[in-house]
Amino acid sequence: MEEKIQNPAEEKAEEKKEEKTKGQELKEKLFYEQKDAFNGLTKEIRDAAQEFCVPYAKFLDNAKTEREAVNEGVKMAEAHGFVPYTFGQPVKAGDKFYINNRGKSLHVFVIGQEPLENGIRISAAHVDSPRIDLKQHPVYEDNGVCYLKTHYYGGIKKWQWVTIPLALHGTVCKGDGTTVDICIGEDDNDPIFYITDILPHLGHEQNGRPMGSAIDGESLNIVVSASPYDDEKADQKYKLNFLAAMYDKYGITERDLMSAELSIVPAMKARDIGLDRTLIGAYGHDDRVCAYPMMLATVEAENPVHTLYAIFADKEETGSDGPTGMQGSLMTDVFADLANTMGANINVVRANSKCLSADVNAAFDPKFGGQFEARNSSYINKGVVVTKYTGGGGKGGTNDASAEYVGYIHNLLIREGVLFQTGELGKVDAGGGGTVAKFISAHNIDTIDIGVPVLSMHAPYEVVSKYDIYETYRCVKAFNEDN
Ligand code: MN
Ligand code: MN
Repeated sequence: MEEKIQNPAEEKAEEKKEEKTKGQELKEKLFYEQKDAFNGLTKEIRDAAQEFCVPYAKFLDNAKTEREAVNEGVKMAEAHGFVPYTFGQPVKAGDKFYINNRGKSLHVFVIGQEPLENGIRISAAHVDSPRIDLKQHPVYEDNGVCYLKTHYYGGIKKWQWVTIPLALHGTVCKGDGTTVDICIGEDDNDPIFYITDILPHLGHEQNGRPMGSAIDGESLNIVVSASPYDDEKADQKYKLNFLAAMYDKYGITERDLMSAELSIVPAMKARDIGLDRTLIGAYGHDDRVCAYPMMLATVEAENPVHTLYAIFADKEETGSDGPTGMQGSLMTDVFADLANTMGANINVVRANSKCLSADVNAAFDPKFGGQFEARNSSYINKGVVVTKYTGGGGKGGTNDASAEYVGYIHNLLIREGVLFQTGELGKVDAGGGGTVAKFISAHNIDTIDIGVPVLSMHAPYEVVSKYDIYETYRCVKAFNEDN
């Protein structure tokens, strides 16, 4: 028989246990202790999170625009047996469908075994990110350099986008009716693009300006080439040289650019940050860091009890307008179509549906602690953030989830051992923001914000924790599987 050797630390712990006072016991019972990934998750879960984020990093590198994210999402869905949906077609339990909405938003759904009137489990995340779009007349030359004029998209700090490597992504519809996709700057052998800044030696006037006006919108002009077309008699040789190169490569002309959707994004790949490899840096975590785990948790579901519905939304960063934004009617059109086909009352379907609006939250940054309220902020490594309300000022523009619905989500996550935290976006008077939540809850659907805390949100290179990504995946999975 082997001798049980008591560990001195264990012995101490036991002693301590006996010594607990009534007040200590009461505190344990009444106080809420927020855990983190290192005392709240097993090593197995942390290892699984590390593994989960390897394909996530690839997804990020392949999906820098909403169109590219939709392409990747379609691949994920098709790999799990999903097929395109046609309005009015017959459906039965277990069927898996997707709708590629104009190449810019993606709706994926699997028919559950329960009657549709028991409600649909929806999760929605957006796949557009702040960036710099080209104007419709972008090309011009000035003093021996060819530039592109731009109009930025979403909330950016303009000064962060100068002097960094940039890539050109987008879609051009040509005069002959064909379409060509453009991606320059992502392959290691590709050239990249660039926005200049004034040197510090001559930057005294700029240094005296407030940061918000240090770089103005009309100066975000992209350097694309700097050599003339070789023809003595031709006019505007630098512009001509760039257009000639684009024509050679893609067969596009200046007229085609007038209708194109072309975007400038950082030409940087996702990388681990820090020796311990807990954090990932990348462009566009907001909101692909929620979109990826959400989509995976939905396409992986086999014969779910409830009908599951996942959305890659477009246009969140500019207000969710247009047919591919969450103010568009596609989701409710599909619900009505399914209700019609399956003989359900659409009003009952919507009333019994539940939604996770998956979007990022601002992680507490001790360098800027003054903008946060530490007791109610989200933190990296403390799990998926459950956000009851968003909005600005006096909760303006918020979907404020009910106590009942927030309580349901908290109980579910505790039951399933998912690490979660609450999070408010900064101090009450510091600013504010919103998500797609209010556009979904407007359809009489209980909706709550959940997601990953981000450092340096909306910067060209944002930072998140792998453990928070994985807990967001486990959160959506728990929600989808809950009966
Ligand atoms: Mn955002
Ligand atoms: Mn977002």
